[in-house]
Amino acid sequence: MTCIKCGKEIPDGELFCPSCSLNLPSAYSDTAEAPRVPAPAGRMQKPVPVKRTAPQMQGPQVQAPRRTGLSIALAIVSILLAASLGFLAWQYGNIFVERNRLRTRENAIVAQEKQIEDLEQQIKTLTTELTETEQMLAARNETIKDLQAQLSGSQSSQTQSEFDLSNAQAQLDQLTEENRQLLTMAEDLEAEIAALEESKASLETALDRAKSYEEKANFMDSYVVFVEDDGTGYYHTYSCINFTRNKFWAYSRKLAEANGYDPCPICGGRP
Ligand SMILES: [Zn+2]
Repeated sequence: MTCIKCGKEIPDGELFCPSCSLNLPSAYSDTAEAPRVPAPAGRMQKPVPVKRTAPQMQGPQVQAPRRTGLSIALAIVSILLAASLGFLAWQYGNIFVERNRLRTRENAIVAQEKQIEDLEQQIKTLTTELTETEQMLAARNETIKDLQAQLSGSQSSQTQSEFDLSNAQAQLDQLTEENRQLLTMAEDLEAEIAALEESKASLETALDRAKSYEEKANFMDSYVVFVEDDGTGYYHTYSCINFTRNKFWAYSRKLAEANGYDPCPICGGRP
């Protein structure tokens, strides 16, 4: 279409004439349909009633005083221009507010995304720490298990060696006790032997003495006789029952016979 101000060609969809910068929606509003104006934006509920008031206002103006077509057209154009400018200002304000709102929302979204990234990073770091801690714990558990195994091993070997030691100690104690008993027995035996030897010695001494006494007795019995002063004229052996041992004389047998004594008829004067 062509610009109503400068007459130059205007590409479809343009809001302003590229040559004279005429605001097209206002310029075409008298010739074009009302829906053409609200096309650019979706929020047209409010502007549309405004647009609809324009024809109502236009109607009385057109129908009322009969003036020249030019002045009517100019009036219509200026009213529509003002309305369009107001609409554009309102729309721009809306857009501005909306853009700010969107920008704020975008900023909030970016901030939230950043927060999420930070949280993910934190989670990743914590997960790594957790994994490392778990590995450390596992390693420490292994160490504890090893230590426990070593401990129980050393405990069992200690128990074993203690058992061996106590066993050996018991054996040693037993052997020592047996040795002590044997030693005591040996000492007792030695004492006994000594006593027996002493007894034997004293017995030998007594035997020797007895032998000597026997010899002496035999000698006495063989050679010595006893004569009592009883007038019988008999001589007796020491063990004769007629020998009273009260008052007697001791002679050798030869001397008794030489002195006229006779052997006793009971003992025979001989052992
Ligand atoms: Zn006699």
